[in-house]
Amino acid sequence: MNRILSRIFVFAVAAGIIVCATSCNRKFNPGTYQGSAPGFGGEITVEVAVDAGKIRSVKVLSHSETQGIGTPAVEKIPPAIVKEQSLAVDIVSGATFSSNGVINAAKAALEKSGTDMVALTRKKGTAAQAKVSKTETYDVVIIGAGGAGLAAAVSAQQAGAKVAVLEKMPRAGGNTIISGAAYNAADPARQAVVPMNTANEATIQQLTSKPPKDEYERKWQEAVKKQYADFTAANKSGLFDSPEWHMLQTYNGGDYVAKPEMVEIFASNAPKTLDWLIDTGMGFTDEIFTVLGALWPRSHRPVEPLGQGYIKTTLAYAQSHADKITILYDTKATELIVTNGRVTGVKAESLDTNYTFNAGKGVIIATGGFAANKELRQKFNTQWPDLTNAGTTNHPGATGDGLVMAQAVGANLVGMDYVQLLPMGDPVTGSLSGNIEKGVEDRFFVNKQGNRFVDEGARRDVMTNALFEQQDSWMWVICDKQSYPTPQTKNNFNESIEDLIKQGRAFGADTIEELAAKINVPAANLKAAMEEFNAGVDAGKDKWGRTLWRIKINQPPYYAGARIPTVHHTMGGIEINAQTQVLNTAGQVIPGLYAAGETTGGIHGSNRLGGNALADVHIFGRIAGTRAASGN
Ligand code: ADP
Repeated sequence: MNRILSRIFVFAVAAGIIVCATSCNRKFNPGTYQGSAPGFGGEITVEVAVDAGKIRSVKVLSHSETQGIGTPAVEKIPPAIVKEQSLAVDIVSGATFSSNGVINAAKAALEKSGTDMVALTRKKGTAAQAKVSKTETYDVVIIGAGGAGLAAAVSAQQAGAKVAVLEKMPRAGGNTIISGAAYNAADPARQAVVPMNTANEATIQQLTSKPPKDEYERKWQEAVKKQYADFTAANKSGLFDSPEWHMLQTYNGGDYVAKPEMVEIFASNAPKTLDWLIDTGMGFTDEIFTVLGALWPRSHRPVEPLGQGYIKTTLAYAQSHADKITILYDTKATELIVTNGRVTGVKAESLDTNYTFNAGKGVIIATGGFAANKELRQKFNTQWPDLTNAGTTNHPGATGDGLVMAQAVGANLVGMDYVQLLPMGDPVTGSLSGNIEKGVEDRFFVNKQGNRFVDEGARRDVMTNALFEQQDSWMWVICDKQSYPTPQTKNNFNESIEDLIKQGRAFGADTIEELAAKINVPAANLKAAMEEFNAGVDAGKDKWGRTLWRIKINQPPYYAGARIPTVHHTMGGIEINAQTQVLNTAGQVIPGLYAAGETTGGIHGSNRLGGNALADVHIFGRIAGTRAASGN
């Protein structure tokens, strides 16, 4: 794998060479625009320069595609876009993911130029034509080919259904494929090698002895007390965990706003759905870690980088059952069809076709969240400062289409004002890439003065609120050689520390003083922050209330990487019941309509624990597929 920031592929075409076939009428707002999209190895960032009439150049600024396999796409697609003056260029054979990554990154950049994206995605030489109309019939029609939609497709097929998946983007994966990929599930076998410390014990004690919010919490508290007593009596090694402990932390961590029956289904199904993914072909390492804001070490790490393992697994299944599962890309669902009070199909459009998809058994909305929709997130945001100019970790298709379609047929939306920000955005793009933390226990944060300012194991909203209070809402993540034993060691986003340093996105130094000088913070403060953190490792506590500890940070080289707040996840959405059936505003089931994944609300409450989303989308996607296939 080879990240080549220093080699920039510039393919400017001299004015006049370009044939004015489809581009002469096109209008761009002249300028230079950047966009990012996932490729095979990680995020690809592209810069596009346009003048009023044409695309002047396309440059790949950074990528992590495999040398010799993905890199031909990195080299060939940019000049093809310039030559064709179109995004409808041929993909490079054998490099589908990489080709689509470059095309989608260019698309994300060009969308900012105010151009007509429909014309730009039309094959050169094909004039705008009247669209044809088509009607197709399936048992189950799924909107969205992300984590939830593809899990639903697999389970619906497994339940005997003929399935269509409609995806508006030219590729599958949505936010799932670019996520940090952590999957939370109680997993005593893997957790047997995770040490349990006094701070962990105090956390259990505290949450099981507080006055319960309701009967659900009381029931889970009783279960955990008994399980923990059995665990200690049996002198078991490793870390305690159970689905009920996962429920308690999820419900409490979301301020009891979630529907407790959904929390129960979620946490009790997390281990089973993990096994289901593994049985379907997905690889997970045996390592358990704590992803940011997970509050407990129960995060599982896929073998494949980012969220690619999830999508590759379910896509491979779909492809090997192509007689039963049809995936239509570049096909945007626009409207649900209702017949006699039952949802019976979906209207959708591609570049050349207006579709009517009839669904004999059910329609599943799996369109993801709305964190990339600035208007929508600002409309509902009550919790944060103005988010108009905030970056996002999301792919450009996370625009909340499913919410609009569902509401049009009477669906209830819940928790819409709960928008999750992370303190972990890239200062330039807002994306997750470039983040140097490997796990919560192995790093601490300092502000521009070199001082710690928060419990770095806290809830995501707590940490982000604290970050907003710091100068320029800017922090440095500090870790050491134990996170990166060699310069080639990669972060959770498939980027090596060596490359991040070369790109100026991380800094490394052999002494803490030298590191302080490189990131321009007072050395005495940074040193004191590290000493304070290391004293916390010994004591199992500190003045910030941190409870997640593992190792001291004292092994050079030391590393620092900058981070700012970024919009990450939308907890609110379509209200569903335990069978993923969509509910209307009177609390009744809308027959024929199901929803799963980030488009739904009520699963996480006001704050989603890190690592709970990928479990959520696969658990409820899987349930939705089975239920929709049953036709009732
Ligand atoms: P989740 O994690 O809930 O599965 P993802 O973001 O992974 O969410 O996937 C949602 C998918 O739905 C994305 O691939 C997105 O492009 C797709 N999508 C969103 N709106 C539409 C729509 N109107 N028609 C078809 N696909 C859509």
